[in-house]
Amino acid sequence: MQWIEIDGSKGEGGGQILRSGLSLSMITGKAVRFTHIRAGRSKPGIMRQHLTAILAAQQVCDAQVSGAILNSTELTFIPGQIKSGNYQFDLGGAGSCALVLQTLLPALWSAHSESRVRLSGGTHNPMAPSTSFLQQVWLPLMERMGAKATLLVHRCGFYPAGGGEVEIVVYPVKQWQALHLPQRGKLIDIGAQSLISDVPDSVAFRELNIVKQQLKVEQSKLSSIDVSSARCAGNALLVKLQFEHLTELFCAIGTKGKAAAKVAQEACDEAQAYLKSSAAVGEYLADQLLLPMAIAGKGCFTTSEITDHLSTNALVICQFLNCRIDIQSIEQGIEVNIQ
Ligand code: ATP
Repeated sequence: MQWIEIDGSKGEGGGQILRSGLSLSMITGKAVRFTHIRAGRSKPGIMRQHLTAILAAQQVCDAQVSGAILNSTELTFIPGQIKSGNYQFDLGGAGSCALVLQTLLPALWSAHSESRVRLSGGTHNPMAPSTSFLQQVWLPLMERMGAKATLLVHRCGFYPAGGGEVEIVVYPVKQWQALHLPQRGKLIDIGAQSLISDVPDSVAFRELNIVKQQLKVEQSKLSSIDVSSARCAGNALLVKLQFEHLTELFCAIGTKGKAAAKVAQEACDEAQAYLKSSAAVGEYLADQLLLPMAIAGKGCFTTSEITDHLSTNALVICQFLNCRIDIQSIEQGIEVNIQ
């Protein structure tokens, strides 16, 4: 058997190397051996969120797996046939539902019929895409590439209790389409939402007021949403920028002891940095577009910097797929071309 060898200490050295490797193994049918998993992190090895992604991927394609235990730094994954169907997975805490879904979606899009996945865990986590980001930014772009999925968030999940409930219906892709995002186009709308669970309304009010002043947002485009069915207190501030060719969303997470002003400032700073650049795609979206674009076989976008996540993901993708990913500096930033 021919093995793809993935060294998890290369480049960014985090969990994305593992998740991208799993997605690619599932869709190509190539066996993969991971070593030095998450060697770049202070606590290396497989954490709960990564283990859920591995076990979920195993179920979806009947894989033979060894090393799937917490803290393990090695894993082998021999994929079988991808099966559509109904699945349910539990992150057992506040681990990111979005990251597990992104691992499974390429496989489920390539299945013969529709699938439904229910997942419990975190919906709005630091250092991960929120489910709002998937719903408003990433999935609409996937749909333009011919890959449709409908994501419902039944209950929000925040750190530490988690327990968010999400459900996604995934439709098989008939034909992948290339997506070209050289420019973002004209700004159409700016809005913000503050999600609050067991947190005073005044927190949302203060956050939204800062967004209103700093980003010149109309009052009618600001809302606070009570998501108090969540298992613990939590807060997420979402700033949405809608352009002609795509939508970007910046999310800052409120936690106990963190001032509302600080949460608002984080979201505003990210939105302003993006507005100042002339790139189409923000830093996080960039690394998350690479894999689907490579599966589609073609695509391009501009972004403002070459992050470690972006360059590392490109290396992992090229180990599995026969594609070329060019990442080069241009006058107004970085251009990424996949062919
Ligand atoms: P670890 O870093 O502990 O290994 P991990 O497996 O959770 O953790 P990474 O490998 O760092 O994570 O990958 C994180 C992913 O989350 C990347 O795709 C990144 O673009 C995305 N991400 C991080 N923050 C945001 C954000 N604010 N909005 C959207 N996406 C985000």
